[in-house]
Amino acid sequence: MPFGNGGVWHKAHIVRRIGDSFSERVYLENDSWKGERVISEETAFIMRKMLREVVENGTGKKAALQNKELCGKTGTTENYRDILFAGLTEDYVSSVWIGYDNGINSQALKDASSPEIWKNVFGNYADSVESDASFPECENVKISAYCAETGKQSAKRCPWGGRGYYKTDHPDTCKKTHPLPVIKVSSSPAPVTSEVTGTTVPVTPAVTEAAVPAAEPAA
Ligand SMILES: [Zn+2]
Repeated sequence: MPFGNGGVWHKAHIVRRIGDSFSERVYLENDSWKGERVISEETAFIMRKMLREVVENGTGKKAALQNKELCGKTGTTENYRDILFAGLTEDYVSSVWIGYDNGINSQALKDASSPEIWKNVFGNYADSVESDASFPECENVKISAYCAETGKQSAKRCPWGGRGYYKTDHPDTCKKTHPLPVIKVSSSPAPVTSEVTGTTVPVTPAVTEAAVPAAEPAA
């Protein structure tokens, strides 16, 4: 939950509000609870982006929603004894667990998709909720390419590893001196027909080696 609201934890509760027949409030869970910071704003933001990646490009694709920015995480215990999925939208955190208390029938769980089940149980509802809730942005984190070799923020010549998130006051840039990568360029000229014999002679492709500079890291 703190990943979706800037690192602030709110006590989980089931009953949110109780009113009487005149809609007079009798009880409201959040009356006295203001929340407590448990992780930094930056860490919460980065975690949320990583959990978003799970739904966009990872194991949680089947849970993707149309209207809401869904972040999530799948889980599997050893030998498919349990499978689970936790999903986070701007409004809710919810999760499903699927399994057998005695651990039998792991094949059934192997064939099941916890993101798909989550979507059927919670997702479609979460997707239909109208609210003005939004995930907080974080100015202290910048998005930058990371070095495939060291995992640190890319400098010049670093091999491209992917998209990374970095605290602006602690960027931890790669300091390694990478050699220029060498790539092989091959070309296949058309076979040559001999004017004397009329036979066609295949030409061995020429192979040349060239040093190319690595891609510049994204700003
Ligand atoms: Zn590097």
